Amino acid sequence: MRSHLLNDTTAESYRRSVTEGVERVARKLATTSGPFTGVTPAELAPVIDAVDLDRPLGDASAALDELEDVYLRDAVYFHHPRYLGHLNCPVVIPAVLGEAVLSAVNSSLDTWDQSAGGTLIERKLIDWTAARIGLGPLADGVFTSGGTQSNLQALLLARQEAGTTDLSKLRIFSSECSHFSVQKSATLLGLGPDAVVSVPVDRNKRMQSVVLAAELETCRAEGLVPMAIVATAGTTDFGSIDPLPEIAALAEEYGAWMHVDAAYGCGLLASLKRRHLLDGIERADSVTVDYHKSFFQPVSSSAVLVRDGATLRHATYHADYLNPRRTLAEQIPNQVDKSLQTTRRFDALKLWMTLRVMGADGVGELFDEVCDLAAAGHDLIAADPRYDVVVEPQLSTLVYRYVPEAVTSPAEIDRANLYARKALFASGEAVVAGTKVDGRQYLKFTLLNPETTVSDIAAVLDLIAGHAEQYLGENLVHA
Ligand SMILES: *Cc1c(COP(=O)(O)O)cnc(C)c1O
Repeated sequence: MRSHLLNDTTAESYRRSVTEGVERVARKLATTSGPFTGVTPAELAPVIDAVDLDRPLGDASAALDELEDVYLRDAVYFHHPRYLGHLNCPVVIPAVLGEAVLSAVNSSLDTWDQSAGGTLIERKLIDWTAARIGLGPLADGVFTSGGTQSNLQALLLARQEAGTTDLSKLRIFSSECSHFSVQKSATLLGLGPDAVVSVPVDRNKRMQSVVLAAELETCRAEGLVPMAIVATAGTTDFGSIDPLPEIAALAEEYGAWMHVDAAYGCGLLASLKRRHLLDGIERADSVTVDYHKSFFQPVSSSAVLVRDGATLRHATYHADYLNPRRTLAEQIPNQVDKSLQTTRRFDALKLWMTLRVMGADGVGELFDEVCDLAAAGHDLIAADPRYDVVVEPQLSTLVYRYVPEAVTSPAEIDRANLYARKALFASGEAVVAGTKVDGRQYLKFTLLNPETTVSDIAAVLDLIAGHAEQYLGENLVHA
């Protein structure tokens, strides 16, 4: 069994095994004809059930053969130009190379004595990101598992800085389009059920700062504490960016912590054409960035940044075995002092390799391409009488719905759109997402693949219309 350990004596087997895996994935990527096969859980479950985990195959080739059936054949492929579903990006090769290196060396970023250069590389990327945001000389931060964890950590710091221990008094303000992890964080942080005040959005799905101001005033008048304002820079559904300068001014006026959730919009930090859309982000107390959304990084790659690095102490605990107090005096850089996690992947290496090979401009160019594509896609849908489109995109998301020519009930239109989405997914020809707008069923393209073209969008719209028409036609027959 020792032959399976990666060490000085097994280099050849490591090379062979990983190369074979890479070969198979490369072949797969080259030959997938759609983003998905349309397999159902009921079809796939028995295939996986049939694997006896107590009878190993003993050999990587055999395990890879089996993997074809249990995973690779039916996986959802984000690199395919007709994958337009969730906020998943195709990944850049330098990042995948970084992933291969980081998992083989397997550094753990909690302490210096488990990572050495890895810690310094992560710190440099944090400084780089903070500088791109413009957070100032005291800024700091740490890589996290994703936007959910980044938001939780930011709100933890905000809670600790709020100046009261009466958690029932704390209020968080975020738009009705903010990510659900804000609400989840509030619950995890022990705040009351009414802690999150949902601020309405305007027709472009951006937080209405006038309403925010009124809510803050009410909060103050009721003797409550405005703990944090969460501005979203790139809402998950619409890619809309809240008015950051207005929100920053209100946060200052009311003494609230300003958190910017730029999980999606962070790609603008590298953009050559659209960086100005983030103006005002430099006034934040904390920022969430998901490199695994708009920097073309493999999951996980995310960070939370803070204006004042000293606030990260709220996540610091000292363990005799790991990061004893004396390591502070000795100035040993232990990232666990800043993190909610202990053992932690060296995800930063993926971004490092990306910046060293392509540079930030290269990433920004790709993100600009998908934002341009969304603008063109918007014009296409807006001109198509079969469809209604909700907002002009600021980033790369389009929310729209099929509307039949013949008069049907709103509920029937909802069902036709939902049916079309499911039928399309089952066909495997394309993957789109769905969401609700004002209680009605809509469909969504999240465009993160620069290889997707306007004609892909047109073709997918035809497919959706076909499925929706089929649904409505069949229902007429049955009615
Ligand atoms: C995706 C997303 C999150 C959650 O990030 P994960 O990496 O999925 O945990 C938070 N906020 C916004 C705006 C998002 O789009």
